[in-house]
Amino acid sequence: MAERLGQEKEKEKEKEKEREFRVMLPMSIGCKACGDNVYKGTKLNSRKEDVMGDGSTYLGIQKVRFYFNCNNCSAVLAIRTDPQTSGYVVDSGATPL
Ligand SMILES: [Zn+2]
Repeated sequence: MAERLGQEKEKEKEKEKEREFRVMLPMSIGCKACGDNVYKGTKLNSRKEDVMGDGSTYLGIQKVRFYFNCNNCSAVLAIRTDPQTSGYVVDSGATPL
C-alpha cells in the first residue's frame, strides 16, 4: 500500500512538471500589485491549466489559462487564450498595456 501511494505521488509530481514550462509572454501587461510592466517577449516560468466551467470553450476549442509570477513583486498573474479573437486576454492580477 505504501509503495502504491509512493507511485501515486510520483505520477502527481510528473503531471505537475508537465504543467510547468517556460513561456514567452504574448502580450505586454502591467502588474496590478506593484505597477511594474511586464513586456511582450519576456520569458517567464509558467503553469498552465484548462479553463473550467461556463465559457471554457469557444466553438469546441478549449481555452487555456497560464499562471506566472511578476518579476518584480512575485504576485500571481494570469492570462488565458481567447480563440474568438485568436489572441490572449488578461485573466487576473494584471492589466493589458
Ligand atoms: Zn508586480
